[in-house]
Amino acid sequence: MSEKMDDFHGMRPCCRRLEGGIKNRGMRMTIPRQLVAEVLEQSDKYLGAEEIYSIIRENYPAIGLATVYRTLVLMDELGLVTRQNFGEGRSLYIAADNQNDRYHHQLICDNCYKVIRYSELSDDDIELYRQLEERLSARYGFEINKQVVQIHGICPECKKKLS
Ligand SMILES: [Zn+2]
Repeated sequence: MSEKMDDFHGMRPCCRRLEGGIKNRGMRMTIPRQLVAEVLEQSDKYLGAEEIYSIIRENYPAIGLATVYRTLVLMDELGLVTRQNFGEGRSLYIAADNQNDRYHHQLICDNCYKVIRYSELSDDDIELYRQLEERLSARYGFEINKQVVQIHGICPECKKKLS
């Protein structure tokens, strides 16, 4: 199979942004690069390079682990992924939130690395964060542009399994 992608129809936002970043660097969007972006786009948990590699390999055996690593580094440089080290000595990745959003809140399970994003939270939550912002702004005279908050813990599924 050719690695050249001629038809980008129906590409997900993260893939499109990756394609833009890649072209700006004079590189080509290839099927392996697109597949890495797609796996990240569809995942609700932090994934390591090896996991992404084994997911893609099921349908696209030609993928190389080195390609996955290089694509992740590139996506990190382009701000398309959030990278996190959970103390295992390796980096895990999740698709980045929209850069233009004001609120970037994540509830992260430290056991399975599943993430509940701010976009899944309620209007009441937004109101609470907005109030916090107003208070901090008033107290410190600080003009706030965006909030990036990571809240770590254990998700309900893991809590059940662990108890
Ligand atoms: Zn969990």
